[in-house]
Amino acid sequence: MAKPTLLDVYKYLPQTNCGECGEVNCMSFASKLLERRYKPSDCPPLVKESKYKEKMDALTKLVAPPVRAVVIGKGRGAVTVGGKEVMYRHELTLHNPTAIAVDVSDLDPPEVIEERCKRIEGFKVVRIGEELKLNLVAVRAASSDPNRFEKAVEIAAKSCSYPMVLCSLDPTVLAAALRKPEVADSRPLLYAATKDNWREMVVLAKKYSCPLVAFSPNGLDELKSLTLTIKANGVEDIVLDPGTYTEGVGLRDTLNKFVMIRRAAIKGGDEGLGYPILGVPAATWMDGGEDPVKSYEEAYLAAVMMARSADLLILHTLQPYALLALTTLRQNLYTDPRKPVAVEAGLRTFGQPNEDSPVLVTTNFALTYYTVANDIEAQGNNCYLLVANTGGLAVECSVAGGQFNAAVVKNLIEESKVEAKVKHRKLIIPQLAARLKGDIEDATQWEVIVGPRDSSQIRDFLNKNWPPQKN
Ligand code: SF4
Repeated sequence: MAKPTLLDVYKYLPQTNCGECGEVNCMSFASKLLERRYKPSDCPPLVKESKYKEKMDALTKLVAPPVRAVVIGKGRGAVTVGGKEVMYRHELTLHNPTAIAVDVSDLDPPEVIEERCKRIEGFKVVRIGEELKLNLVAVRAASSDPNRFEKAVEIAAKSCSYPMVLCSLDPTVLAAALRKPEVADSRPLLYAATKDNWREMVVLAKKYSCPLVAFSPNGLDELKSLTLTIKANGVEDIVLDPGTYTEGVGLRDTLNKFVMIRRAAIKGGDEGLGYPILGVPAATWMDGGEDPVKSYEEAYLAAVMMARSADLLILHTLQPYALLALTTLRQNLYTDPRKPVAVEAGLRTFGQPNEDSPVLVTTNFALTYYTVANDIEAQGNNCYLLVANTGGLAVECSVAGGQFNAAVVKNLIEESKVEAKVKHRKLIIPQLAARLKGDIEDATQWEVIVGPRDSSQIRDFLNKNWPPQKN
């Protein structure tokens, strides 16, 4: 399906160049709308003035992504899945990172359900300034007992603030859990409608305004037919589960289906498959047992699914090594490739530096900055760190590309007013920037000391070289 052009979008804007959106004119707004930096509703006249209603509706339809964005949960913790419009991230930023749910079973005792829920919400790691975490709790009705499931869902809702996926193919079991107002009002994802139960599941989804999974492991034609039927009966927020097989030919077919679904939606404009995709790596554990090796198997299956367009994954493992690998992969996949991840340039203070403390410099590439900052903190160094604006490029690249240069360092020294904080005039630069030593000295009149190659060596380097020997 052809993507809308700038003029296609512009046609539906008021074209008054009023500036209320913060842009200088409507064309500028149109260009950023196409880049997903704005939504149609960010143009106030389109929203406020009734004469633009038709334009607003047409524009919303025009820029709607071919893969529907589906919201699970409510309020601040709500998770949006899907909303994709490209196959690969280099074509445009991928929005709405793959949401990760971890399961709890209603066969487990209440204290185990509670403990797992708390561990799910408790998994948090800060990497490159971003908090990596899980997103949902999937409660499985392994007992098939409505009362037992209702109780398990109630415990999960009390133990964890994350949105829920309610998992049973029996509508009476799901209906039991939805009797609780706190569950009914929380917009859980219902798993799942099949060719046999879709009527009852559609009734539940409509009654409680919940998104609904369409599950069909019998091929994409049946899945598409099921999806179109659900949609025709009034449920718009659908998630697709084409079935997860964890080994051999079944696994190959599973991954192929993921790609075919996404391609059909994005390249073919197939509305029957234009929905987020759900993968269930937790199926790795379906033959029972708690063999730790399965955490590895589940993690690599989840990783491949994530790379193959999965918008939502249901896992079983809570092993930190598996979750850390997956959340890190997700962060990398969903980082905007057009924008290096950068931190603010300027002066940072570590420990309790004084006027004799060392001054180091690094670049504002986020991965470099956080690595250096974490090492300095962990080593207990008292120092100043100047962070140069290199456009988010790392040391070696920015030296080669010219973004890290003597003029940038000179400006940084002046703007940060670090000269008022130390009485010496000595600057430690990364070894990878050694070739800038002479230029920086000429530009700043500071003595430049070439520091270590790696920030893990800063403490050893300072122990040997700071304060510098007087000549
Ligand atoms: S607020 Fe709307 S009408 Fe005004 S400049 Fe922006 S896009 Fe144009």
